[in-house]
Amino acid sequence: MTVLIDTLKQAPSEGVQRAAELSARYETMTAQEILRDAIRNEFFGDITLSSSFGADSAVLLHMISEIDPGLLVLFLDTDRHFFQTLQYRDELAKRLGLTNLVNLKADAEEAAAEDGKNTLWRTQPDQCCDLRKVRPLNREMEKWGAWISGRKRHQSATRAKLPIVEFDGRHYKVNPLATWNADDIAAYFLAHDLPPHPLVEQGFPSIGCFTCTKPVEQGADARSGRWAGMEKVECGIHNPIYGGDGI
Ligand code: SF4
Repeated sequence: MTVLIDTLKQAPSEGVQRAAELSARYETMTAQEILRDAIRNEFFGDITLSSSFGADSAVLLHMISEIDPGLLVLFLDTDRHFFQTLQYRDELAKRLGLTNLVNLKADAEEAAAEDGKNTLWRTQPDQCCDLRKVRPLNREMEKWGAWISGRKRHQSATRAKLPIVEFDGRHYKVNPLATWNADDIAAYFLAHDLPPHPLVEQGFPSIGCFTCTKPVEQGADARSGRWAGMEKVECGIHNPIYGGDGI
């Protein structure tokens, strides 16, 4: 709790500087070393993991299970997930012994008021993601100072310069797999006998809601099947939300 209060008191520029220093220190460390330091030292008692239980998610979840299986794992349950994702979530959590998985949902009144016809994903996808992902996560993150994400630089042009630690004006975000590529992920799955998401073999290298995810051609940008045909490329949960001082 002391760490949280300290984080809240921190001026944005101090947060940006701390994130830059941590990024530089973490750049030469393995993903496991980064996670161990972030969970047990830098952000002790004040960090959570957000997982989509998508194509690559088992890697971070497995690492977490070896460091702290009781760490809070957040899943944004949009009510639009493939049933395979929900099954995979439950099977993986059980297999890895994760004891603190929480499903975050949209506020029921907000959902009824803004998307009574269930068409928002098509007409206003940014608002739909805001309703079902951004706001539920932000509400939960009011209690936390830092979170772990599985984003990687190789995934898309918009993530090519992803730092290992970011600061959004309020939260630190740790990206231990930022430098990993598809081969690193595949090797980790193999080395630890991790089950693949069942949709990967059907051509889904990145998996979101069923309404907004399509399979991709071999060799194409891994995230090109997300909101295919729209200008939208991110759901918004990674946008800085507490002012423009984020990195
Ligand atoms: S990915 Fe699509 S269905 Fe899911 S929350 Fe975003 S717009 Fe809505």
